[in-house]
Amino acid sequence: MCGTAPRPATGPGAAPRLLDALAAADGDGIVLDLAGIEGAYEALRRELPGVAVRFAMKACPVDEVLGRLAERGCGVDAASPHEVEQALRAGVPVDRMHYGNTVKSDRNIADAHRLGITDFATDSLEDLAAIARHAPGARVFCRLATTGEGALWGLSNKYGCAPADAVAILDKARELGLTPAGLSVHVGSQQMTADAWSGACDLIADVLTALSARGISLDHVNLGGGLPALGYRDTHGRPLDPPMDKIFAVIREGMARLGRIPGHRLGFVIEPGRHLIADHGAIRAHVSRLAARRRPDGEPQHWLYLSCGKFNGLYEMDQLQYRLVFPTHHGAASVPAVVAGPTCDSDDAFSHRHGLVAVPEELASGDPVWVLSSGAYATSYMTRGFNGFGPLACTFTDGADE
Ligand SMILES: *Cc1c(COP(=O)(O)O)cnc(C)c1O
Repeated sequence: MCGTAPRPATGPGAAPRLLDALAAADGDGIVLDLAGIEGAYEALRRELPGVAVRFAMKACPVDEVLGRLAERGCGVDAASPHEVEQALRAGVPVDRMHYGNTVKSDRNIADAHRLGITDFATDSLEDLAAIARHAPGARVFCRLATTGEGALWGLSNKYGCAPADAVAILDKARELGLTPAGLSVHVGSQQMTADAWSGACDLIADVLTALSARGISLDHVNLGGGLPALGYRDTHGRPLDPPMDKIFAVIREGMARLGRIPGHRLGFVIEPGRHLIADHGAIRAHVSRLAARRRPDGEPQHWLYLSCGKFNGLYEMDQLQYRLVFPTHHGAASVPAVVAGPTCDSDDAFSHRHGLVAVPEELASGDPVWVLSSGAYATSYMTRGFNGFGPLACTFTDGADE
């Protein structure tokens, strides 16, 4: 089957190899292009020479992906003991991992410590005290809050502290017998502006200066995640087209600037998730039904129901549109449609608020559809337990005692 039909134009990201694999797939599922992921890692290393890359594994907690990246020298940003265990099993050496989640229970800390983790993120005195108790002697890096502006998903409501608190926390770390080792930020996921990184570097620079004034010397700065995928469309269906060259130039410039601040000997770490994975994975799904319906106001509106949606792979559909390919209907006449998943949840739809998607008019139930640039976060939001926190166990009670 592959090789005969003309290849659809797919824009940035997806390699011919991935399209061939989608064409060859005889059932639904997610196809991950391991060579593409490896290529993205190598390209990132070329853009940011000397920077240690630690893959934020929640973006694709799949052993084969972790193993392939580990072979190339990549480390892992883990957020729970289960993630640490999975990365260890997949071949990531523990000295290339850190615990990047500032939210952890005493038990989480003790388990990670037992597994050999030495570097922990923190952003509160309570968490710091727990690290001192359950991972004595650990190295800590403090996460600074950023605005999240310019990102599709800002993350700073929940994470990070103010500069003055970071200084107090790292000072206290020393007192508790921990090693104040670094600072980290996350500028927000799918960050679209280079300014976000220059702003983050300004913030880090201020804290580094305040720390050296107190005689605290750090050994690393972690610039976090947020590097964008290339192949998404916005909710109106327009290509997002992130300014990658500018982003990398600003990051390089920022690192050079931070490296000149006296009192520290800094290495740099970056924790990409989405950027390494999204464009190198695609979901092979099928058409459930294309239906011509009427809206409550009487206006006709086509709805395309797919076999996958918000709850099995496309959780992020509220913020973006995925590029769809209908391999059996190249160049066919199209109709504008709302695209929706198969579940009985009315949020399981995209393009219902904004730009409708042009879909082939003649689509039939069972026709294949490829959802491009859907590699990142697709598996984690479903069944694998996001960030290694497992699904709820189910126990039962009934009327027997009453
Ligand atoms: C999720 C996460 C990342 C990766 O974010 P992306 O936007 O996918 O690059 C990096 N670091 C931390 C601490 C995270 O929680």
